[in-house]
Amino acid sequence: MKLVASESLSRLAVLHCSACDTEYSAFDLQRVSACCQVPLVADYDLHQPLSRAVIDQADTSMWRYGALLPLLHEENKVTLGEGLTPLLRLPRLAARHELAHLLLKDEGQNPTGSFKARGLSMAVSKAKEMGVEGCIIPTAGNAGVALAAYCARAGLRAVVVMPRHTPQAFQEECLWYGAEVELVDGLISDCGARVRQRNADGALLDISTLKEPYRLEGKKTMGYEIAEQLNWTLPDVLLYPAGGGTGLIGIWKAFQEMKQLGWLAPHVKLPRMVAVQAENCCPLLETYEGRQPNCHNYHGHATLANGLAVPHPLGENMMLRVLRESHGTVVSVSEEGMLDGMRDLGHQEGLFVAPEGGAVWTAARQLLATGAIHPDEKILLLNTGNGQKYMDNVAGRARG
Ligand SMILES: *Cc1c(COP(=O)(O)O)cnc(C)c1O
Ligand SMILES: [Zn+2]
Repeated sequence: MKLVASESLSRLAVLHCSACDTEYSAFDLQRVSACCQVPLVADYDLHQPLSRAVIDQADTSMWRYGALLPLLHEENKVTLGEGLTPLLRLPRLAARHELAHLLLKDEGQNPTGSFKARGLSMAVSKAKEMGVEGCIIPTAGNAGVALAAYCARAGLRAVVVMPRHTPQAFQEECLWYGAEVELVDGLISDCGARVRQRNADGALLDISTLKEPYRLEGKKTMGYEIAEQLNWTLPDVLLYPAGGGTGLIGIWKAFQEMKQLGWLAPHVKLPRMVAVQAENCCPLLETYEGRQPNCHNYHGHATLANGLAVPHPLGENMMLRVLRESHGTVVSVSEEGMLDGMRDLGHQEGLFVAPEGGAVWTAARQLLATGAIHPDEKILLLNTGNGQKYMDNVAGRARG
């Protein structure tokens, strides 16, 4: 189906291959790049000036940045009010650890309980716009729940393939949204193989991380919000729990776009981006530290932080580029470390975060201990999910 951009607020212009820059039409259905089989990235026409006044202040969701999002026609928008999550100060933890500025963006407050809502709201809206009949996704949990919810709202068929060991709450919630759920022995990579087999005829749109270009565009709105919420300044360091890496790549993309637009003053320094992984599954760390050439042969294990159990991220090179360009780094956290972080955020700040969020706080403490982060820097933690769906795995651990 061919689409026309005319009369649309969106400045969407073209897609490019993330490896070799070959351009592809943004107005046809695309998956990975035909040239290099890697993710495609959306470009916008930023030549014509676009002031911050295009932000729709009446819209309290991520859709307030519509001009910089890929949806062409308003009537295709599939929304549950995702985004514009609170950016909270953590005064008690900051005082305890003698930190000058400790902030947390609480993505657990999104519809369906995680930041996956952003990517799936966008991808399902575009799927609807492209006229597909249904979507299929391999997931560690949260992405499947979000896909199921947004497909229900769009009237599209949803097929969710997740590891059998995923906590029951994730499976159940998908069923309540009317999705078909298939359980697979293994990790998300095994679910990905099953999705390819099950969808060999291509009847459904494969919404796997970075296999279509628009989940990334949803996730990038976190970057716009962080800048807007900090009155167009940025933190010194940003810690993000990286699985497939869409958030890390997306936030960095938003910072680049805002620089180009002039929304960030030239003197505003971009933060060092820190990817936080699980010790049980840290392919990015292994590649970064040169113990393997890339993630293809990596063998990962299950972790409390389901979202980090991604042994073969398709976007590994894109993540490495973000770390390099931002002078960031990657660290891993143990299972106990995640629980410690969850306890701290719960006991001290009233936040019941996902293990991924717990990992991020513990990672910050690890980097403070080595001197890689200074106590007077502005530190921003991303909590990507709500702890409640992980109850099967964390019940009884609140007291350490
Ligand atoms: C999916 C997920 C992640 C990892 O996100 P990526 O964009 O794949 O890096 C982190 N935390 C939670 C709670 C998730 O669901
Ligand atoms: Zn290419």
